[in-house]
Amino acid sequence: MPIQVTQSSMPKFEEYIEEIKPIFESRCLTNMGVVYKRFQHQLIDYLGVPYLSLFVNGHMALEMAIQALDLNKAGGEVITTPFTFVSTTHAIVRNGLKPVFCDIKSDDYTIDPKKIENLITENTVAIIPVHVYGSICDVEAIEQIARKYNLKVIYDAAHAFGVTYRNIGVGNFGDATMFSFHATKCFHSIEGGAISFQDESYRRKLHCLKNFGIEGPEDVTDIGANAKLDEFRAAMGICNLRHIDECFEKREAVYKRYYERLKDRSGLKLLEIQPNVKPNYAYFPVCFDKELFGKGRDEVQIYLRKNGINTRKYFFPAVNEMQCYKEEYKEMHTPIAHKVSLEVLALPMYEDLAFEDVDRICDLILD
Ligand SMILES: *Cc1c(COP(=O)(O)O)cnc(C)c1O
Repeated sequence: MPIQVTQSSMPKFEEYIEEIKPIFESRCLTNMGVVYKRFQHQLIDYLGVPYLSLFVNGHMALEMAIQALDLNKAGGEVITTPFTFVSTTHAIVRNGLKPVFCDIKSDDYTIDPKKIENLITENTVAIIPVHVYGSICDVEAIEQIARKYNLKVIYDAAHAFGVTYRNIGVGNFGDATMFSFHATKCFHSIEGGAISFQDESYRRKLHCLKNFGIEGPEDVTDIGANAKLDEFRAAMGICNLRHIDECFEKREAVYKRYYERLKDRSGLKLLEIQPNVKPNYAYFPVCFDKELFGKGRDEVQIYLRKNGINTRKYFFPAVNEMQCYKEEYKEMHTPIAHKVSLEVLALPMYEDLAFEDVDRICDLILD
């Protein structure tokens, strides 16, 4: 069996069955039921955020956060990062907004706030940065810029579940923050997502948008869609949340094993833990400098695959170089994102990855 780049965390089978039994008995399967509400309250507690709204996935959550802030009505430009999963950009474009790609920092791969101001025009309405690999963006600098130019900020925290910065939950920065609970993320509800937010007035709007814009039985107030999280997925989320601290501990041990084995080899750049951040160890990306290391990223990937190890070019290509965007956005140069996308390889990372497997992967790389 090849080692996959990730493996979903699972509760005990019996634990999940126990959690879904009442759903079978009540026959209430979806539409913001009791399990959904319990999951929502547990997440508000765990993430330490004032408000949170659940969604069927992270992508729809992000699209609807943009709508709840009325950005789609205003139209205009949104400054964002090209070094992300394509969902971030799609959510902007599918709302009739224009993405403006800002380059990233070479140390932690998050958006470079020093390069944001130059990209602001009279049409700029928002900034949508990404806490990529769970690394926290420079939230202070971004907030200063947003204040100065009166811009909204929505963070894509799909990678950053459970991360804190100066003991503040990551969901407390900006106007809103999106989380993804997809099966491949370090915390999941099979599919699922959420928006945390600071302003109570977004609560009604988000609730309405995910349910076709229906405010009451005879009241359709918004042009919504269907993005409700169902009871079975909420139950999976509740089970996984019960074990989340243990999950992070096991991931930390895997991270440290990799780090110790690979840190001294020249030509390899590992993901560092940022100061004042409690990380979630969601990913183990390594950048391969071909000159210094002797082999490029693609060669390493092929060699590992031959030896039964699956890795992922996460992220390649950069979003502004993808087929659906490259023609329109080719004038936007983001050299650091481009370089990292050519060098980065995400190694297998999941809570039950055995140390022997980590060692074997490291041996293969170091050989
Ligand atoms: C996974 C992911 C998304 C989308 O979340 P889904 O729950 O899969 O819809 C958005 N942005 C980033 C950075 C992601 O990794």
